[in-house]
Amino acid sequence: MHVHAPPWVGASLLLGTFAATLHADGGTVTTYLSQTPDNNLLTITARPADVMVRGQGSYLWNSEGVRYLDMIQGWAVNCLGHAPRVLNDALAAQAQLLWNPSPAFHNDPQMRLARALFESSGLSRAFFCNSGAEANESAIKLARKWGAGAGQGAAGIRHEIITTIGSFHGRTLTTMAASGKPAFRGLFAPTMPGFRHVPFGDSKAVETAITPQTVAVMLEPIQGEAGVIVPPTEYLAQLRQLCNEHGLLLIADEVQTGIGRTGRMFACDKSNTSPDIMTLGKGLGGGAPLAAMLCTEQLNCFSTGDQGGTFNGNPLMTAIGAAVLAEVNTPDFLTRVNELSQCLRKGLQQLCDKHGHVEVRGEGLLLALELRGASAGAMARSARANGLILNACQPTTLRLMPALNVSESEIQQALGILDQSLRS
Ligand SMILES: *Cc1c(COP(=O)(O)O)cnc(C)c1O
Repeated sequence: MHVHAPPWVGASLLLGTFAATLHADGGTVTTYLSQTPDNNLLTITARPADVMVRGQGSYLWNSEGVRYLDMIQGWAVNCLGHAPRVLNDALAAQAQLLWNPSPAFHNDPQMRLARALFESSGLSRAFFCNSGAEANESAIKLARKWGAGAGQGAAGIRHEIITTIGSFHGRTLTTMAASGKPAFRGLFAPTMPGFRHVPFGDSKAVETAITPQTVAVMLEPIQGEAGVIVPPTEYLAQLRQLCNEHGLLLIADEVQTGIGRTGRMFACDKSNTSPDIMTLGKGLGGGAPLAAMLCTEQLNCFSTGDQGGTFNGNPLMTAIGAAVLAEVNTPDFLTRVNELSQCLRKGLQQLCDKHGHVEVRGEGLLLALELRGASAGAMARSARANGLILNACQPTTLRLMPALNVSESEIQQALGILDQSLRS
């Protein structure tokens, strides 16, 4: 093992350990396991020492050969599990053909994916980008452009967007300002103006917040990061109605809830609500960095140069997205997601009853267990020590977002480990 590093990092490297691991395929991988903060990554989150080296289906392996059952799948990203054959094939085939002709040219996978998204969502225009935050940033720009008079029906300059308390829309400066996450408040001042936050699930509160400057209402159909908060059934339809009455745009952030996650292609489908703008990310790329903003024909109002990006809509990523859609957007696949959801939900409810916890929430394979008097973080750590990866999205909330093609035996295995952790 040869480490290329300037002499001054030698001292800190000595504090770490080197581990050589023999893998099942006979290959030896030598890995630097950081036991100290002395790796070269900017500190943005507290990570365990594991270095993940391989994933297959619902399983993830670290460099020491420890296998984990993965019930978060990159935060609801790997909708078909780790390294699915169908996406590997789509990626390999496209990699032989064309990676990036530049966004100034058409490419076939991008147009195929836009067409498939139109057919599944009814929204005829797509803008592809690389992250959910970028898709939401794009939605905010489009709404402001439309509100400034670019669209028919816009009277005067309107720019204000009503968003919800507890919401999460991303980590760019503007999407942080749009988010109603309490921890973001006041960070990186000055904060981008133009957002009014109202309680989630309360359409009256939205109505009260409308001013002559309001141009849009933006929300997650189910708040994900906030702890899988499901609003009242009629909420989205009420907001659609309000937006119609006041000439506002309805923006659905389906970055987490879209692409089959809730047992429907899009969470908005449940209430038959069509947003004017929908954003997608996470599951859209099945693990690859791909996101999209979809909008109606009348919102196709950006001028040339208003929006774009070097990697946006590149064929390598959009070919994967097209393969994801072909797989997920079938009645059989979505029926199966609902069956798996019932299986997981039933098991979680049994654990909830058995251990006296508060409730099971969510839809499809976006589920949360609300704990009573227990730390979700400690529970997630205990589960990981027993080989199960869960997410503690709030201090007392565990979130599960397995692959949409997880098996029932993997679900039972996860429930067994969770039972153990809840007992201890
Ligand atoms: C994850 C998420 C985002 C941000 O997506 P990134 O790809 O991390 O930028 C935005 N909105 C919702 C609802 C999300 O869950």
